[in-house]
Amino acid sequence: MRTHPILLSLLLPAAVLAQAPAPASSTSPTRLEPFRLGQMRVWTLQDAQFPLEASLLKGLDAAEARRMLGGKEAVLTPANAYLVKVDGKTVLVDTGLGKNPEADSGHLPERLAASGMTPADIDLIVITHFHFDHIGGLLKADGTRAFPKAQLLVPRSEQAFWFEDPAKLPERLRDRVAGLKALCKAYEQAGAFKTFEDGAVLLPGLRTMPAHGHTGGHTVYVFTSEGKELWCLGDLMHFGAVQFERPEVGVAFDADGARAVAIRQDLFKKAAQAKAVLAGAHLPRLVRIEAKGTGYQVLPVQP
Ligand SMILES: [Zn+2]
Repeated sequence: MRTHPILLSLLLPAAVLAQAPAPASSTSPTRLEPFRLGQMRVWTLQDAQFPLEASLLKGLDAAEARRMLGGKEAVLTPANAYLVKVDGKTVLVDTGLGKNPEADSGHLPERLAASGMTPADIDLIVITHFHFDHIGGLLKADGTRAFPKAQLLVPRSEQAFWFEDPAKLPERLRDRVAGLKALCKAYEQAGAFKTFEDGAVLLPGLRTMPAHGHTGGHTVYVFTSEGKELWCLGDLMHFGAVQFERPEVGVAFDADGARAVAIRQDLFKKAAQAKAVLAGAHLPRLVRIEAKGTGYQVLPVQP
């Protein structure tokens, strides 16, 4: 199956797509078992996968990038949403890339079913940022809400980044604004759209941490239960094989590269101290990290 260049060009620079290998097809599990952390239940819902080229990495020479990626020019990355049951609520973090017949994507509904839930079971959707591989599942093909009973919660800073002064947006992002407004409107008209301030506590067991840089309002969600923490990182990082060991390495599509590096370094340090379980939108599995040298090493997470 060929990667659809138009769809992915919404997300990635054209250069990424030029030599992208075709993604392998995802398989559909019959039953997804949750990861248990305190009283929380966590499901990783992989919506899509697509290739990321080594040339996207910034601040790392090409030979070293290839070495860290096991000799590959590009790696397949998942686009994950996360489903978390906490405080009696069912929360969805991001919604993947959404369905496109020419890309390996749009698996969120079947993954949700495999976790034993339906779209109507979702109480709350929280969005890390407004890139297409995070909001693509919010609407059905007919433009109506895919999650009929869910409140959509969006960082006010992210809304401002896209909507307040589009002239300040990088040029390649400007044509996305109308679509984003339509998407918010679908939830707004149903009384199901809210924004929150940076650092807001959304539930007793769900707080938010501003992680601006990748976009102007990019946000990390921290779920807690019985003193244990799950951090949904969004796009705090993209390349697990590189950026834990070298958090100073950025990616080409960060809106503010220096800020993205600084917040990654700060939050990795705090995540290691908190022994948090890390759930990245583009990480293939849940991990913990601990400091090693100038970076971090990945520790496996036992179910
Ligand atoms: Zn992403």
